Amino acid sequence: MTPPPRYTLQPYKGMWSRYTCPQCLRHKVFSRYIDIATDEPIADDVGRCSREVNCGYHYKPSEYFSKHGKSIDDRPSTMDYRPLTYRDFEPSYLPKRVIGQTVKHYEQNNFVRYLVAKFGREVAYAQAQLYLVGTSKHWPGACIFWQVDKANRVRTGKIMLYNPETGKRVKQPFNHIAWAHSLVGSKNKEAGQRHSDFNLKQCLFGEHLLQYQPAKAVAICESEKTAIIASVHYPELLWLAAGSLQGLNAGKCKCLEGRTVILMPDVNAYDLWVNKAAQLSAGLPSVTFKVMRLLENIATPQQKTEGWDLADYL
Ligand SMILES: [Zn+2]
Repeated sequence: MTPPPRYTLQPYKGMWSRYTCPQCLRHKVFSRYIDIATDEPIADDVGRCSREVNCGYHYKPSEYFSKHGKSIDDRPSTMDYRPLTYRDFEPSYLPKRVIGQTVKHYEQNNFVRYLVAKFGREVAYAQAQLYLVGTSKHWPGACIFWQVDKANRVRTGKIMLYNPETGKRVKQPFNHIAWAHSLVGSKNKEAGQRHSDFNLKQCLFGEHLLQYQPAKAVAICESEKTAIIASVHYPELLWLAAGSLQGLNAGKCKCLEGRTVILMPDVNAYDLWVNKAAQLSAGLPSVTFKVMRLLENIATPQQKTEGWDLADYL
């Protein structure tokens, strides 16, 4: 058996595991490479920026070692090989009651108010309930996109704030994004449980819907908002969201076995998604992946500069 590579991008365990990108200087977008034997980073700037399209910074361990005149020691010795822990296996789950407690009060939910203006109350509320969109008190008007897997287990919830008129995310004076498992974790901290004990394994947004539509073709886009809006316009597909391009990996796509899956990249991201589809196909031979070129073909130069997604057109 070949041991895994010695260096890996630090798995996402909450915002504390993401750093400021040395190139674009955005906060909380940078993942460092760590030594799996020790969990230590190689250096502060060796890692990858999540803004693949708009930044693209990726300093690999092999480049770092060749720049410093060392050959990369990429195989952990048996002595320092980190033993597997519970973290490598079982994900943590949030209690199911968080769904019932939050999937309501839509009149205070900016994102749902935007949907109401677009589709009317009946359709907007039905969509929000179908996708388990919650209302959060974390910021006034905030919503929660719960990630519930196909066995109905709650992995986490992504809390975001939208402008109710434009439907755009509020990114000033800071990017309004928070995670339900971190908030629950910080409460548990007082009870003596460490926040980092939560073993976060994200799933696709909307994954819980797969069980009700066993034969339907699936469409995957980046944002939760796009999935919800597109499912009104194109109900012949089951729309899910990856959260981000890096959010799409073989682990998350295992639930799609046996399906036809259409990937819907944002404008500018077509080539990245084609590469991603090839990687995923290799790991999941029972899934037929197709990448949609629609937006790339119809986007104007200005829309390309702005990186539009499908929801901007609908
Ligand atoms: Zn960057």
